[in-house]
Amino acid sequence: MVARIRVLARRAPLESSEIALDSAVSHHVARVLRAREGDAVVVFDGEGFERDARVASVRDERRSVVVRVAFDGPARRGVVADRAGVHALQGLAKGDKLERVVRACAELGAAAVWPVECERSVSKLDASRAEAQRLHLESVSASASEQCGRADLLRVEPLRSVGAALARVSETIAHRCVADEAGGVSVASWLAALDEGPVALLVGPEGGLTDEERLLARNAGFVSVSLGPRILRTEHAAAAFCAMASALLGDLRQR
Ligand code: SAH
Repeated sequence: MVARIRVLARRAPLESSEIALDSAVSHHVARVLRAREGDAVVVFDGEGFERDARVASVRDERRSVVVRVAFDGPARRGVVADRAGVHALQGLAKGDKLERVVRACAELGAAAVWPVECERSVSKLDASRAEAQRLHLESVSASASEQCGRADLLRVEPLRSVGAALARVSETIAHRCVADEAGGVSVASWLAALDEGPVALLVGPEGGLTDEERLLARNAGFVSVSLGPRILRTEHAAAAFCAMASALLGDLRQR
């Protein structure tokens, strides 16, 4: 028996007695994890609730899996985002780096990743490709939730220019900082001084932020913070921040 496979129920509410899984999820459950009829799974709704279920049927050469929900009591509240509520504004970077940022940030409990196009970003804005990329990153976020035991989903924002992202974040998030390898206040002291999240962090792409972008961020109320004396790769900075935010402000903080 395969224990505690977690699946996202996208199309049916957890109140349905039987839930047909997406073909990609079915493939993962039946082929990769080798689940069989009768195996126990946990279905979650992406909004923080989950419920026990069992695999009811595996059909179409394991491309369509249906699970039957156990009706002993209401859906329970599952593990969700860290209380620190990190919103990571990530400079667009090459290759699969954004995927890695989404995966790590989801595991470390961030609330959202905002891909932003910076002057030194190698890939540039293209509306049609941007939406396809966002959907892909959403699926990475869903599979990260399945793997790490979150019952909610890290949100993936649409791709924006730095200016647009800074403006949008400033409307809703009171505590904002920009990771600056050239120096700033220690991120630990900045986080420890806050009472509660959410917090926003801007990280530059491989080539870093330009002076103009740093100024834009400062003018939008983003405090320059240092993540330490060593220069991190762009895809590691947000993850390091999430871990510190959890320890100093969120779920791991000693109160
Ligand atoms: N300017 C660089 C490195 C950029 S690192 C260069 O030499 O090419 C990519 C991004 O990660 C930076 O823009 C910054 O936001 C973040 N970063 C990396 N190391 C950091 C550190 N020690 N402190 C704060 N931010 C850091």
